[in-house]
Amino acid sequence: MNLEIDRNRLTEEIEELAGISDAEPPAITRIVFSLADLRARAWLIARCEKAGLAIRQDPVGNIFARWAGVEPNAAAVGTGAHIDAIPNAGKYDGVVGVLGGLEAIRALQRCGARPKHSIELLLFTSEEPTRFGIGCLGSRLLSGTMTPDAARKLTDKDGASLEEVRRKAGYSAPLEEVKLPSGYYKAFVELHIEQGPLLEQQKVPLGVVTSIAAPASFRITVEGAGGHAGAVLMPERRDALCAAAELILAIENAARSSGAVDTVATVGICDVFPGAVNSIPSRVRLTLDIRDTDLARRDAAMRAIETARETIAAKRQVAISEELVNADAPALCAPEIVEALSQACAKHGLASMKMVSRAYHDSLFMSRIAPVAMLFIPCRNGYSHRPDEYASPEDIARGALVLAETLASLAG
Ligand SMILES: [Zn+2]
Repeated sequence: MNLEIDRNRLTEEIEELAGISDAEPPAITRIVFSLADLRARAWLIARCEKAGLAIRQDPVGNIFARWAGVEPNAAAVGTGAHIDAIPNAGKYDGVVGVLGGLEAIRALQRCGARPKHSIELLLFTSEEPTRFGIGCLGSRLLSGTMTPDAARKLTDKDGASLEEVRRKAGYSAPLEEVKLPSGYYKAFVELHIEQGPLLEQQKVPLGVVTSIAAPASFRITVEGAGGHAGAVLMPERRDALCAAAELILAIENAARSSGAVDTVATVGICDVFPGAVNSIPSRVRLTLDIRDTDLARRDAAMRAIETARETIAAKRQVAISEELVNADAPALCAPEIVEALSQACAKHGLASMKMVSRAYHDSLFMSRIAPVAMLFIPCRNGYSHRPDEYASPEDIARGALVLAETLASLAG
């Protein structure tokens, strides 16, 4: 099998898709079911049809482009990612996995491969949370991680419901039809830019992902008592910001003392009320984002934070409440796919390293219904979600090549 990636065409396609955007180049904005997103979908479908792939779209707009195998009824081998983009993003996040996946399939076709299992390219709807406030909408529904009832309650900032928006985009069948039957995929592999600096720093062209970290996030409110900064003496104070400060350090400590570098916890927002120089803070709102690759360890850190919260509230006579925003479980990649990816790298003489995906992707949710793994390529300075996001044509082609080799080995 003489696999070759058509690097020029792949580069041209990435540029062409970048032109379908609601932002001025080089920035990309493609919000799910906006006109730009719908045009980009139509463009992609045309490319897939040209490659002889059979197209199916589900009621939430996930697009499946299938190259039928010799045994068309056997479980398929899947690959894919997303093409929606947050406002003012770059042109590679998600796109490399979609167009790289398409090119991997074409490369296999060109070299005369006849896979036993079908190979399917999957475009996920709304990986980005921009419009409906929740990321990975398509894969959550495909995997049954989100119920159709919960999805029907989603609205965008203009009050339009997902139901309305998807119907307008031409998707009207009931959301109950989205969930994939178990055993639909034999394996699922997602190619993606790293969105971090490690591959570039270590000068390794490919990263084989062994686990995907997942966040739990909370809104925390601390309520104490306000008052005049001069008149209320220290023994009388119930300062909400001082309590919040202790809690923030307890959160940091819970992550630092978990026993693993993979535990990370961040308080990214601290909103102080009333926020005046001569007024004791009476209320503080915090956000907490806590991630790990191991669910038990993340839960242990969350319990440590919980204990600290109770101790601080009692000691400082303040009320601390927390509201869970979301808590997704992390995923371990399937050892057999990790092995297939590593061997594919070796076969083409390409160095690779095992790594953790610290951002989460549609593969996190696909892992609930199929064996998954991911392949990372470097991106300049680790930048992503910004217009100067960049991956070189050479790195992208290497990713597509290893993906093609892996799909072939998994599809038999
Ligand atoms: Zn992405």
